Amino acid sequence: MAALLLTGGRVVDPANHLDAKTDVLISEDKITAVGADAVKKAPRDAERMAVNGLIVCPGLLDLHVHLREPGQTAKETLATGTAAAARGGFTSVVCMPNTSPPIDNAGTVALIRERALQQGIVNVFVTGAISKGIAGEELAPVGGLKRAGIVAITDDGHCVQNNDLMRRACEYAKMFGLPVMDHCQDYSLVTDGVMHEGYWSTVLGLRGWPSAGEEVIVARNILLAELTGAKVHCQHLSATGSVALLREAKKRGVPISGEACPHHFTLTDAAVGGSDKFWETDGKSLLATNHQLSTINWPSYDTNFKMNPPLRSARDREAILEGLADGTIEILCSDHAPHCDYEKDVEFDYAPFGITGLETELALSLMQLVHTKRISLADMIAKFTANPARLLNLPKGTLSVGADADVTVFDPNREWVFEKAATGSKSANSPFYGWKLKGKVVATIVAGKQVWSEQNELVAV
Ligand SMILES: [Zn+2]
Repeated sequence: MAALLLTGGRVVDPANHLDAKTDVLISEDKITAVGADAVKKAPRDAERMAVNGLIVCPGLLDLHVHLREPGQTAKETLATGTAAAARGGFTSVVCMPNTSPPIDNAGTVALIRERALQQGIVNVFVTGAISKGIAGEELAPVGGLKRAGIVAITDDGHCVQNNDLMRRACEYAKMFGLPVMDHCQDYSLVTDGVMHEGYWSTVLGLRGWPSAGEEVIVARNILLAELTGAKVHCQHLSATGSVALLREAKKRGVPISGEACPHHFTLTDAAVGGSDKFWETDGKSLLATNHQLSTINWPSYDTNFKMNPPLRSARDREAILEGLADGTIEILCSDHAPHCDYEKDVEFDYAPFGITGLETELALSLMQLVHTKRISLADMIAKFTANPARLLNLPKGTLSVGADADVTVFDPNREWVFEKAATGSKSANSPFYGWKLKGKVVATIVAGKQVWSEQNELVAV
C-alpha cells in the first residue's frame, strides 16, 4: 500500500478547527490519520516527507477559473490550466462555462469531465450556463446539466439582465440543489466602459464603468435569493457598495455569498496610469511592507491591468479587504482568465478583459491579508478550502480522516519572484511578473500523489 507521511508541519484544517504542529498520514488516495497517531499508524515502507516550518492544509480549491476548453485552446487547455493550478497550490479548480461552444448542454459537460480525467493533473469541477448560449434569453437545461455533473450554474463573463429569467434560474437551481453564481454587471450602466469610472478614467481618457454597474446587480441578487431561497453567489466583487449590501443581507440571513480576487484587493485603477503613478499614490501601502516593489515598472495603458470588473479606487480596495476581514466575503479565488499575447498586445480599448492568477493568488492573499495581520492564516485557508467546498457541496477542503488526500504544503514566508519563464499557464497576461512575492507553494498533492513539488521543479529546470 502506497503511503505518505508528512511530519512536523503546522497543520491547518479550518473545517476541523485544527491548527497545530503535527503529522498527516496518507494511504493510497485518502487521509488516514492526522495527529500523534499518524506516525504509529504509518506502514514501515511509507514515504516520509519532513515539512517542518511549513504549512500543511487541505488542498486549495479555486472556484473561478477559465480553462478555455473547448474551443479556445490557444489561450489555455485542461493540461496547461491544471498545471498552473498545481504550481499555485490548487488541487481543485472549478471551470467557467463561457467556452466555445459554451457549457450549456450535458454533452459538453461530459466532454470536459472526460478530458479533465485524461489530461488534467488536478480535480476539475464544471459549471453550466444559466442561459442557452450564455445569451441571457432562455434558460439552459439545468436538470440535464445537473445530471451530467455540474456543481453550479453561472453565465460568467456575462450577466443575465432579465430579472424574471434570473428568478426562474434561481428557482430551478434550488430544486436541483445547485448554487447560482453571478457575474454582477448591469449592461445599461456599464455600456462600453473599459475601466473604473473615476479620476483615472478621466485623466487617461478611457470610458468609465461606475461601481453602481456592479452594485445594482448585487442588490438584485440579494432580493432574488431572498424571494426564492436559492443560494446566490456574487462573483469577483470589486466595489464598496457591493460589500455593504452583502454585509447587510447576510445579517438578515439571506442565502447570499461573495468572492474576491487578489488583483482587486492589491491593485487600483491608478495602475492603469502606469507604475510611476501607482507607486506614488495607491501603491504606497504595498511599498510600506515591500519596498523592492518600487523597481517594478509598467507603462500607462498596460492591458494586463484591464479586467472585468475593473480595478477600482483605493477606497474600494479597502472595502474589499474589510469585507474579507469581517467575513462578509467568505471566498478567495483568481478569476484566472488567460489570453494570448497578440490579443492583449493592442490598444487598451480593444484588449480582452482578464488576467491569469492561479500561480500568484496564494502569495498575494498572504501578503494582503495575513502578513498585514488583517486575518488569521486559518481564516485565509478557510476562504480557499472549507468555504468554497461548502458553497458547492463538494466533499473537498478538509483533512478529515477518510477524505480525499488532496493536500497543499506551503511556506508562508518564502520570498520569490514570479517569472514568465516559470509559469505553467499557456498564457502570460499577468500584471505580477517580476514582483517579489511572499509565500510559496512547496508541494501540491492530489489523491495522494505529488503533482507538483518545488524540488522536482528545480530538477526539471
Ligand atoms: Zn466574470
